[in-house]
Amino acid sequence: MLEGYRRFRATGWARERERWSDLAEGQSPEVLVIACSDSRVDPATIFDAKPGEMFVVRNVAALVPPHQPDAQYHGTSAALEFAVTQLEVKEILVMGHGFCGGCAASLTGQFDHARGGAGEGHFLAHWLDLLDPARDKVRAEHPELDRAAFQAMEREGVRVSLRNLRTFPWVREREADGRLKLHGAVFAISDGLLYLCNEDTGAFAPA
Ligand SMILES: [Zn+2]
Repeated sequence: MLEGYRRFRATGWARERERWSDLAEGQSPEVLVIACSDSRVDPATIFDAKPGEMFVVRNVAALVPPHQPDAQYHGTSAALEFAVTQLEVKEILVMGHGFCGGCAASLTGQFDHARGGAGEGHFLAHWLDLLDPARDKVRAEHPELDRAAFQAMEREGVRVSLRNLRTFPWVREREADGRLKLHGAVFAISDGLLYLCNEDTGAFAPA
């Protein structure tokens, strides 16, 4: 990591020195990207974005939980609130990806509570419960757990997050009056292609 840091200081930082000094004054990114923590799907790399351009939240399977204003610690919801109500981003992109381990675990029931597979650390299985509606739909449509089923799961996961985004009143309100646009996409790792979701038809097509 330090070797990479030295390369960054020598090239990336030096080249964008002025930008960094402007950014010290504050940030005003226009997009929020919700992506998976998976090491292969870094949004800044995929969108060739510069520092300050994208506000990014990454978690297991690029999930947005529903609006639950209780006393629990909602990291994703807090980041979403900051991006939407403070930064006033104009667009939100939920970006799933091919070969997502979180989607696969949900589909195969790897951590099913009923099978005693809650995971070792308590949190993962419950987080993936967010994908239960997607899993049920995909299992019904794909009796075989083949690649098509996993791909359908990855796409359905994006739809779940888009639905949950709209349960937050300040998202709904801004989308209704045109201040905010929501998008879904899946990044296919093997061919490096981004597939955008057309919410009217539900279809995903290469961007
Ligand atoms: Zn993933």
